[in-house]
Amino acid sequence: MYTHLKERQFYEDTYDRHTVEEARRGMVHYYKFYDDVEKRLDKGDAIDRPGNAAILNAFYMQVLGLELLRRYENREAYIADWMTKDEAKDSQIAAARLTEEPYCHHCGKQGLRIIDKSLMRRKENANYDEPEEVLFMLHCPHCDKNSAFWEDGTAWKVEPERCPKCRTEVIHKTSKTKTAITITYTCPSCGHSYKDKMDLHAKKEKPDPDFDKERIHYCLVDKEFRDKLYAIKDGFERMAELGKQFKEREDNKHIYDAIKEMRKPKIAELSTILTPTLEKAGYIELSFDKPEMDKDVTVGFNCLDGKSDRSDYDSEKTLKKTIEKALADTNWRLMSDGIHYRLGYLNGRLRAYEREDDLKKLAMKSKNLKPKQTGSNATDIGDSRTLKTPDGKDIIL
Ligand SMILES: [Zn+2]
Ligand SMILES: [Zn+2]
Repeated sequence: MYTHLKERQFYEDTYDRHTVEEARRGMVHYYKFYDDVEKRLDKGDAIDRPGNAAILNAFYMQVLGLELLRRYENREAYIADWMTKDEAKDSQIAAARLTEEPYCHHCGKQGLRIIDKSLMRRKENANYDEPEEVLFMLHCPHCDKNSAFWEDGTAWKVEPERCPKCRTEVIHKTSKTKTAITITYTCPSCGHSYKDKMDLHAKKEKPDPDFDKERIHYCLVDKEFRDKLYAIKDGFERMAELGKQFKEREDNKHIYDAIKEMRKPKIAELSTILTPTLEKAGYIELSFDKPEMDKDVTVGFNCLDGKSDRSDYDSEKTLKKTIEKALADTNWRLMSDGIHYRLGYLNGRLRAYEREDDLKKLAMKSKNLKPKQTGSNATDIGDSRTLKTPDGKDIIL
């Protein structure tokens, strides 16, 4: 009996044949584009100049290179999935049982013998995603005719062929020659007549002498070529990423300007900035602990409240405000664990923000942030940068 699951070779061959066919179609476009570029070259310019090569590469990737990489990457998974589906079809057929003993369509007797099981969709013109069901073909030993049933016992009905002009059921006549079967349909109502011809010559596969060679190439068995495509793809992706970064910097120029203007004092300078301000607010003997170098730099500090009549709450609050104000235009911030006060002794921690993302967040909250610039006064970055591929070569196959 007919089975769906085939040797792995069949799937590999079919998949690769599609890849080669797709590549050949892509190459038609590529060659045409190549000729166009060549025709339009200025005097003295060469098609293999890096600038031109990059354009050809970009076109090649778009028209087939990316698809070849995609098909190469998906090949194993696609074939495995396809084989699983075929195997499932075979299991479905093997497991199928008729739910009741059927009667012959022709003579009404029982005792029919199953001669074939196949998968079909019940509705005519059914979509591909509708499930297939098992259709049983049975032979009647009494009248020697065949009947077909679905698994649930429903008889298989052939839709009658209808006249395309008036929908009347047509009559047909079959004639067979050595090379073909011709069915002639005639409408008894309007007289419309048409033919359906089935060619009996099994279509011989046209010889394809280049297939094996092109398979190695386009299915990326050739590692050197494969690596080259990946390198070009990476190059374009890096360039796109770079473009995105340039654009982001342009769009947020006001933020980057504010980062530039932000003071980034060294640890030693903190004392110079803070001591006079704190003293003005009545805090004395400011000193720092040893800094901790982790993801960020943090440094503990302590001082004494010179005003003995200040309550702990007021002392903490005033110190917090004073430090925040003094460090507002720097990349240092008081840490969220706050300031602790005990018997006139205060301590807390400061953190330095150094990473760009953090600095951006600080800059966005800063008072120095100017309004966003719009297109016309942003600096032009679209200068005459030329596109270059990593290897500087084009693909000439
Ligand atoms: Zn029968
Ligand atoms: Zn008709």
